[in-house]
Amino acid sequence: MSFTWTAHRFSGGALALDVANSVVLRFDAERRIDRFDDPAAVDTFAEAANLYGAERNRFGTLVPTKSERRNAFIGLREATDRHFRALVRTENRPDLLADLLEAIASVLRQPAGSGKGTPLDVATAHSALRLIAGPARERLKICPNCAWLFLDRSRNRSRTWCDMAVCGNRTKARRHYRRSREEPKP
Ligand SMILES: [Zn+2]
Repeated sequence: MSFTWTAHRFSGGALALDVANSVVLRFDAERRIDRFDDPAAVDTFAEAANLYGAERNRFGTLVPTKSERRNAFIGLREATDRHFRALVRTENRPDLLADLLEAIASVLRQPAGSGKGTPLDVATAHSALRLIAGPARERLKICPNCAWLFLDRSRNRSRTWCDMAVCGNRTKARRHYRRSREEPKP
């Protein structure tokens, strides 16, 4: 069965973060899934981002990245993830910012297409630039359940999970299961 992008997959709050989050459980070698391993899923991501992404319409209608640009796009994704993850951890890594700026430049340097819409890689580069320079990055967090990057837009910045309905509930259910096994029944 082919994979379907759902609204949950766009919990990052910015296109560049949703792209970075196409890798689930990034640091769990056994359970890690890269949704972009399937080129068809990279294409359908653009369509779904037009529907569910927090930045939908900001960069125009997204169209798939050209297949010959796919490697540069994945390079941008990885550089995005590394830089912003280091930022959340308050690591001083100017090299990772430099890597990301180079990846952005390499995507933006491509000749403009003649077709309608904005290629996904170009829009992702602009989204990453907004995050680098804008105030939203102060709201950046890492979900303790799935390790996704997300922007906490809540007023008092109290969000823990990328998506309460998915990651929050899963963790609560696990805790409840553990408690109900550990505590003696009355
Ligand atoms: Zn999560």
